[in-house]
Amino acid sequence: MEYVILAVVIAVVAVGAIAGLVVSGRRRQQLPPKSQAPVITAPPTPREPAVGEEAAPPTEEPRRTVEEVQLPEAEVVPEAVEEAPSVEIPEPTAGRLVRLRSRLSRSQNSLGKGLLSLLSREHLDEDTWEEIEDTLLTADVGVAPTQELVERLRTRVKVLGTRTPDELRALLREELVELIGKDADRVVRSTKHEEGPAVVLVVGVNGVGKTTTTGKLARVLVADGRSVVLGAADTFRAAAADQLQTWGERVGARTVRGPEGGDPASVAFDAVKEGIAEGVDTVLVDTAGRLHTKTGLMDELGKVKRVVEKHGPVDEVLLVLDATTGQNGLVQARVFAEVVDITGIVLTKLDGTAKGGIVIAVQRELGVPVKLIGLGEGADDLAPFEPGAFVDALIGD
Ligand code: GDP
Repeated sequence: MEYVILAVVIAVVAVGAIAGLVVSGRRRQQLPPKSQAPVITAPPTPREPAVGEEAAPPTEEPRRTVEEVQLPEAEVVPEAVEEAPSVEIPEPTAGRLVRLRSRLSRSQNSLGKGLLSLLSREHLDEDTWEEIEDTLLTADVGVAPTQELVERLRTRVKVLGTRTPDELRALLREELVELIGKDADRVVRSTKHEEGPAVVLVVGVNGVGKTTTTGKLARVLVADGRSVVLGAADTFRAAAADQLQTWGERVGARTVRGPEGGDPASVAFDAVKEGIAEGVDTVLVDTAGRLHTKTGLMDELGKVKRVVEKHGPVDEVLLVLDATTGQNGLVQARVFAEVVDITGIVLTKLDGTAKGGIVIAVQRELGVPVKLIGLGEGADDLAPFEPGAFVDALIGD
């Protein structure tokens, strides 16, 4: 009898223990992530390049491995590790514009080729010069740069006397490169400081390609040997943080994000904090672009910048503009420039119906250089801007 009672007691205790384990396991699964605190997602483990894939380009500094930048366990969302795709090795950035030039020239014939054929006419009379002027204006070059270019072309063509097609091409190339500015500093400042990472804010209105550009820029930097943390501070557009996180996971960069509709400045602050903790080279912050009264924009962007500056200086403020919007893009540029110090311009969608002259007009408007151009929706379709290669694409070589 005693044995029977003992056996029953053991059975009851065992059943109780098993039930307890199951319940606590479920509870653990159901526990929501800390909803208010920004969440840091872990990148997937990098893999060796497969046979036939391009090896990573040689870099000045050894690339940091994901192992070197591990976070304390508590802050990592484990699901992201399990489901993330394997890490890609982005294409080298050198020569990207040359590779992508066919995309550009398709929509730019009216500018480069049009100018060349006009300049090749036997008699360069006033009507022809007017046509040259119209061609430039139609290509979004802007009034003042158009007049300057026409003046210089008039003078140089006169000096040249007889014109061979090669001479004309060389002359036009030289003048266009000059107008775009061959000496401007177009490097995206992404080099780590002693105190912490370089900080790049990416700004622009919704729909211009801001989040996509931030993701592509992360790839550009990784391709050039930098380690990156992303800040998803566009908390107002529902899909933006997921979109950015996906870009980050593809190249092994962590994304710091906050609750939807949360404070963008707080996410930006935490992203830089995370970048400092990880010791990465660069923190890229995608900002909100939903606004747009100027005061709202000023308040929000100003706050993001101020809050980030508590960690240290902001190195770059890149304004993303959709090149297909022409004059409207210039209006946006003006508003943003009044609100924040823009240090570089990214022109997206130059593979579309955009006119190449917008490069000249927007630089003139803001007095800052175009640093990158978007030439498609593909992951590596963002190219460092090179005036020479750009003009070659316009006029053919
Ligand atoms: P955001 O609202 O400014 O963050 O815009 P998104 O990054 O979501 O981009 C809006 C759309 O523009 C997406 O469909 C992108 O794929 C597209 N896009 C971005 N850059 C380029 C580009 O250089 N060329 C083309 N054709 N599409 C682009």
